[in-house]
Amino acid sequence: MEQSSSHIESALERLCMEHGLRMTGQRRVIARVLSQAHDHPDVEEVYQRANAVDQRISLSTVYRTLKLFAEHGILERHDFGLGRGRYEEASRDHHDHLIDINTGTVIEFHSEAIEALQEKIAEELGFKLVGHRLELFGERIKPEKKG
Ligand SMILES: [Zn+2]
Repeated sequence: MEQSSSHIESALERLCMEHGLRMTGQRRVIARVLSQAHDHPDVEEVYQRANAVDQRISLSTVYRTLKLFAEHGILERHDFGLGRGRYEEASRDHHDHLIDINTGTVIEFHSEAIEALQEKIAEELGFKLVGHRLELFGERIKPEKKG
């Protein structure tokens, strides 16, 4: 996990300012937590991490802040069929997700073959593809590859 010292703005903080959002200390902490997370945390997990940095941050503040960031398109909210929304920075490079249905772990992947196939399908239907969402759901049958 990458470290960011307190005087360096996270990518998310910069985006928030570009969107004209007033950056309070608590919003900064929440933005930083999200910039450092690569595991698609839910509200509860963001709250725990943010609250560990600043104990004044409440669950309702985290709820409101995530909603605000998502409304501005700074954060992407995924459903993943896990009952709770999961969040990640919207500015990340495009990727798709595989969800482990037993653990809720979210694995990111990118496949040029799938990207090309989707474009081809859209084109055949008379469309220029402007975006897509692809979620795979699976049960692990081989141990996780390390490194
Ligand atoms: Zn992702």
